Amino acid sequence: MCGIIGIFQRDKKSESASRLAVLGLFAEQHRGQESCGIAYFDGQKIQLIKKMGLVKEVFNEKILEDMHSHIAIGHVRYPTKGTSDIGNAQPHIFSNLSGPMFALASNGDIVNYQELRDELESKDVFFESDNDGELILKYIAYYHEKQGLSIVDSIKNVMRHFQGSYSAVLLIKDELYAFRDPYSNRPFIFGELDDGTYVFASESCSIDIIRAEFKKEVSPSEIIHVSGNGMRSIQLNPEEFRDRKHTAHCVFELIYFSRPDSVVYNHAVYAFREILGKKLAEKEDIIADVVIPVPDSSNFIALGYAKELGIDFNFGLIRNHYVGRTFIAPEQTIRDENVSQKFNPLPGYLKGKKVTLIDDSIVRGTTLRKIIKMVRNHGAKEVHVRIGSPMVKYSCYYGIDTPTMEELIANQKTVEDIAAFLQADSLRYLTVPELKSLIKDNNDFCFACFDGNYPIHLKE
Ligand code: AMP
Repeated sequence: MCGIIGIFQRDKKSESASRLAVLGLFAEQHRGQESCGIAYFDGQKIQLIKKMGLVKEVFNEKILEDMHSHIAIGHVRYPTKGTSDIGNAQPHIFSNLSGPMFALASNGDIVNYQELRDELESKDVFFESDNDGELILKYIAYYHEKQGLSIVDSIKNVMRHFQGSYSAVLLIKDELYAFRDPYSNRPFIFGELDDGTYVFASESCSIDIIRAEFKKEVSPSEIIHVSGNGMRSIQLNPEEFRDRKHTAHCVFELIYFSRPDSVVYNHAVYAFREILGKKLAEKEDIIADVVIPVPDSSNFIALGYAKELGIDFNFGLIRNHYVGRTFIAPEQTIRDENVSQKFNPLPGYLKGKKVTLIDDSIVRGTTLRKIIKMVRNHGAKEVHVRIGSPMVKYSCYYGIDTPTMEELIANQKTVEDIAAFLQADSLRYLTVPELKSLIKDNNDFCFACFDGNYPIHLKE
């Protein structure tokens, strides 16, 4: 999972595209905290700055002062495929004899990565990383430079052969291309500033921060090209590339990944989460003294649940915001330590209370098991757990870092066994039909992590 941004200022004298890109990336920090980078065109060639670390650590005022450009792309990375190191950080660069000419940043995962890489390697294309973004870039560059295809046809070639998920921005000197896979699996939007600056971003919270206005979602298999001559959209027919009629938007973006102040796939994320909570409440037969979210991702689910039942809602657990997302620490041992560093209960508040804890999902069970122990140690008399999504039983191959199926607790255990493992007095998940009932256009969504039905296939 990653976040991307692309900025094109029609007024070339503006030269603040890198600064806007950094600001936009800052709002997408929740989408990846391992590394970040910006590529920009300085009038002569493409420049690249990428490092391990957070946006605010990598891009300070001093660095920004020298990044003059009217066009820039950026990326924050959360590793799914490939190790967590600078080689796999994005954007990636492709150089020809004239120097660095192409840069690309993408969000998603390519399922047939190895097959496509083998194909290019057999044609003497050289790789510097294990990252999908580099593969997309080299594929386009190869077909453009060596086979003489136009950039649009080279991207079309990607759509024909790449199985998986990709929202991408491609910088070619002073031109920008934005494109999205035919299934539109990851979010990708387009916005515009008052001065005519074009913005492409993973989430709307990113265009809000730079005061751009949301224009539209980049459509499935759309290629948008911006240059000194303006903007043109090349809308390819998605059904030419995919084997089903519908898109496959990742539903987990709405449940967990995206920021609640974003609008994703035309759904306001916070409102969707409140509805998840409301749905959970419909079948409730245990009325607790208080509803407590596992902050922050389940705040709105818990709010919706508590409102529906008319029960007290409180932030019984306080989160330390400087730890980072628990899940992102790659090693299990680090993940274990992080949970207790991350949450602390309100002093005295839980004593003698019957508590319903709400979380958005259970993956391995690490977080909740520790939290429940903590809540009990602080005097809670009963701890009931409600989960705002169905059981995560299957791994994701489209850009979310879920572990192997064997590591997914719901793949291995029943609800009763999971409750026992967590030491919860009761446990209930939302069911797949309940979740689907909340999305009018649910045929356009991917529920693979819940139902094992992997929808993304190339057209034969
Ligand atoms: P676990 O402790 O392994 O059960 O992980 C569940 C917790 O991680 C939940 O509180 C979620 O908010 C969060 N989570 C779920 N899926 C992901 C993901 N793919 N990446 C990061 N965090 C996640």
